[in-house]
Amino acid sequence: MAARKKVHTKTQKRNLQASDALPLPIRYTNKLVWVLLLASAYHLWPYTKRLHSPSHHSLKGLTFPDLSAVITFLGSLLYLLGFFGIPFVQNDDSGNTHFANPSPSPSSQCHEKKTQNHPIPISLDDEDLIRQVLDGKLPSYALESRLGDCTRAARIRREAVRRMTGREMDGLPIDGFDYESILGQCCEMPVGYVQLPVGVAGPLVLNGAEYYLPMATTEGCLVASTNRGCKAIADSGGADAVVIKDGMTRAPVVRFATARRATELKFFVEEADNFDTIAAIFNRSSRFARFQGIKCSLAGKNLYMRFSCSTGDAMGMNMVSKGVQNVLDYLLQDFPDMEVMSISGNFCSDKKPAAVNWIEGRGKSVVCEAVIKEDVVKRVLKTTVSALVELNMLKNLAGSAVAGTMGGFNAHASNIVTAIFIATGQDPAQNVESSHCITMMEAVNNGKDLHVSVTMPSIEVGTVGGGTQLASQAACLDLLGVKGSSLESPGANARLLATIIAGAVLAGELSLMSALAAGQLVKSHMKYNRSSKDFSKAA
Ligand code: ADP
Repeated sequence: MAARKKVHTKTQKRNLQASDALPLPIRYTNKLVWVLLLASAYHLWPYTKRLHSPSHHSLKGLTFPDLSAVITFLGSLLYLLGFFGIPFVQNDDSGNTHFANPSPSPSSQCHEKKTQNHPIPISLDDEDLIRQVLDGKLPSYALESRLGDCTRAARIRREAVRRMTGREMDGLPIDGFDYESILGQCCEMPVGYVQLPVGVAGPLVLNGAEYYLPMATTEGCLVASTNRGCKAIADSGGADAVVIKDGMTRAPVVRFATARRATELKFFVEEADNFDTIAAIFNRSSRFARFQGIKCSLAGKNLYMRFSCSTGDAMGMNMVSKGVQNVLDYLLQDFPDMEVMSISGNFCSDKKPAAVNWIEGRGKSVVCEAVIKEDVVKRVLKTTVSALVELNMLKNLAGSAVAGTMGGFNAHASNIVTAIFIATGQDPAQNVESSHCITMMEAVNNGKDLHVSVTMPSIEVGTVGGGTQLASQAACLDLLGVKGSSLESPGANARLLATIIAGAVLAGELSLMSALAAGQLVKSHMKYNRSSKDFSKAA
């Protein structure tokens, strides 16, 4: 058995201290100020007697040294009052005095939670803490808030898990990750992180610009294949993409005593005259949320109201949910018999295959097209236009119909969507509806060239919030030029990301369909998916 690894804190981040603003170390500064205060007080003492005497009610005759003494006295008094005042306002357990931080950092959140709960006595070392976790005296989930050190918390939890399971987790790294960056928003109870390779395909020439596509995947061939599709598109002059709809949805389910009463609410929220009122109430949720409308569906006396709104550069689930809650609170005033069963009634529909997303759209609805020249089809894709058109009809249209698919009229949109989602910090579970895609291939220019398009009605992406702010994911967004909030027009970054994903899917579809048409698929997978290390599997 491997030797037990000692768990210890490697780094303690130095906090910014008030004394950092001073030119001298704080102990010298304090002494100096005390001396100045006493000296100036001594100098001014005779004046206090003169002020109290009835014949001297003015300070006439003050000399320059007297004025300097007054200024020094007031200055040093202010400094000392300030110095001793700060610890009453802000002080932590270590006695450090901190400057106020306008937006709490994850570490300050960690610290805040620590002081709210019972802080662990400083004498407890890691071994004691691991024992406490193992004995059930210290909940594993509370380590971050109780210790105020996310990295140390992860180490202690990991060691406790190691001892509980007897599994070493050697291949799961723990060092080299910022655990504070995920606190309270991305992942709870971390014990390490999974490594994924990120490949880059491109350039994808789209709407006249070039993009290098970051793809996080462990599927051999995927990046290479997308790269080949990008080349075919680039050699044909590029692709063109348009966002045709942009709206995140959330559909609560509410219940009434009768179906008639449920229909009354349906008519109320769908009434054009009520739109402005509902929009004003909804939009209070965020300066980026803009109400678009409500689509209702009934199941007996239960009403499903599918709210839709634009959400700027955020993917928008939180934003839309807050807006819906505002409206529900408002509706309860006029419909007090309405029972809110759930803020989400699955008519939204999030992370599940659903016809409503396929037909109505969710997030960004994008169409992307390109005309691939005959010679490019032959030279780059190693097939013919007619073979591609025929295969697309047989596989992506007829074959998917035979399978009874819903939104799956494509070869492998999900492959590209998911790889880019993971690389750029999107919610990978939303690949379910984000991969809805119909791929069309038609011969154009007298049958010589290929018109190829992908229509994707529900690409759910954001460039702010969630996992997008983590360092690796933000770097991938930056590579695409869509990191964070768009300064010119809120929402432009997220919409651009959706078009890039559609363009990447177009490239992926072209390449895989060509490989299938040319009978290359098995050959190339044997080459890229089966390395010599894994020869037994290939055999
Ligand atoms: P989501 O709604 O996608 O779950 P968040 O809850 O993290 O994401 O919301 C996004 C946050 O980012 C909100 O607090 C919002 O005010 C802020 N924000 C900053 N810039 C933008 C922007 N350009 N578009 C949308 N939200 C933005």
